[in-house]
Amino acid sequence: MLDQGQPAPRAYGQHLAPAPGSGPAACAPAAAGADAAQEGRTLDDFQLLRTLGTGTFGRVFLAQSKTTQRYYAMKVLRKSQVVKLKQVEHINNEKGILEVSRHPFIVQLTCTMQNERNLYMLMEYVPGGELFSHLRRAGRFPDDVARFYAAEIVMALDYLHTMKIIWRDTKPENILLDAAGHVKLTDFGFAKRVEERTWTLCGTPEYLAPEIIQSKGHGKAVDWWALGILIFEMLAGYPPFYDDNPFGIYEKILEGKLAFPGFFSPAAKDLIQRLLTADVGKRLGNLQGEGRDVKAHAWFAMIDWDALLARQVPAPIVPPHRHPGDTCNFDKYPEPPKEPAPEAGVDPYYHLFSTF
Ligand code: AMP
Repeated sequence: MLDQGQPAPRAYGQHLAPAPGSGPAACAPAAAGADAAQEGRTLDDFQLLRTLGTGTFGRVFLAQSKTTQRYYAMKVLRKSQVVKLKQVEHINNEKGILEVSRHPFIVQLTCTMQNERNLYMLMEYVPGGELFSHLRRAGRFPDDVARFYAAEIVMALDYLHTMKIIWRDTKPENILLDAAGHVKLTDFGFAKRVEERTWTLCGTPEYLAPEIIQSKGHGKAVDWWALGILIFEMLAGYPPFYDDNPFGIYEKILEGKLAFPGFFSPAAKDLIQRLLTADVGKRLGNLQGEGRDVKAHAWFAMIDWDALLARQVPAPIVPPHRHPGDTCNFDKYPEPPKEPAPEAGVDPYYHLFSTF
């Protein structure tokens, strides 16, 4: 993943942590996670069972509440790494956005916590694994399977854009499937609330829109571009602009030549071409408010959008799942060594994450 153009890091002084130093980190409930507050959870109330996935500065664990036995996903981020990699603003954005989001196709944040070493985000556990794994297993998806996932993602993007939030990290690794096979977007580390345009270069090379590469300033249209890449990748099994190194990928994106495999349907080709339009003013998704032009495209003609939002359209893949804490849909990762509890009281980074 890329992230450049962030402001230089501030100088961090030693800072005494008011709350975390005096006991186990307490759960600051997200707006939608009121049940957590009622149970009065702290970090000590959770057992971290195994790693579900890793990121650049942290990992996501399957966690179980010792009180209720319920399963959750716990994202653990090491503060020092977040600071070193200049991700402070991004992580605070992620927390702020997830705590106000409430949508059937977006992962639900329950609460956040911190101690002297780490930030913790307690989320619903989405047991079906990454769309990426299902796509790699299948090779490629037939039209109707790709359409189902694309349509649920369109609904989530619509919702975010209505809240003036751009996701900026569409890719099959960040799209999880729930127990019934419906989509849940995760990883809002690059999401941002934006009125008009923003300038940070971030995202995943294959999914970057030309205006991000050219540092022209970008807005929500980058999510529609990335949707075009995703639909192509789901149907073909590989992304449309590919090279061994990121600069080769950028060249191809800017060149904009699309080579469609022969089996793509005319409607799919047309939709992808309209989404992968370099001119932001002419790109589908941007022509009418809230993605109405995307929903109205012929490739989506058979989608009943109301039934879809109500999760009434049966999913094409129902991930195997034998019990609530089953992790069979996730890769196995080496587990980190157990660490001693952090030194109480001294936290040079507390002021940077005071909302956690
Ligand atoms: P992230 O750091 O948010 O990109 O998460 C890294 C990986 O952890 C994801 O690609 C998923 O495999 C896994 N993961 C993240 N959030 C969840 C969740 N709520 N439920 C299950 N797995 C998750």
